[in-house]
Amino acid sequence: MAVPKQRHTKSRRNRRRSHLRLKKKNLSSCPKCGEVILPHRACVNCGQYNNREVVDVLAKLEKKERKQKEKELEAQEEARKEKQPETLDPEKLSRK
Ligand SMILES: [Zn+2]
Repeated sequence: MAVPKQRHTKSRRNRRRSHLRLKKKNLSSCPKCGEVILPHRACVNCGQYNNREVVDVLAKLEKKERKQKEKELEAQEEARKEKQPETLDPEKLSRK
């Protein structure tokens, strides 16, 4: 069996391990509900991907839970709409 000729220093070991750190995930937010999502994945919260629903998130829920979830999604969408600034209207701008 091959035997190491020389002991590696702590520094050398640590330099080797410097590449083993976790990489930061490239996260973005869902255009519909604003939830944080992974790229190339459907939104876990509302089941949207590429601006259409690909997963029915309500399918597996009980009736009571479903109602609650529907309310939640609606509230999120409302909040989202209110957050977005009004589009610049040339008429309004000219009045100012
Ligand atoms: Zn979503």
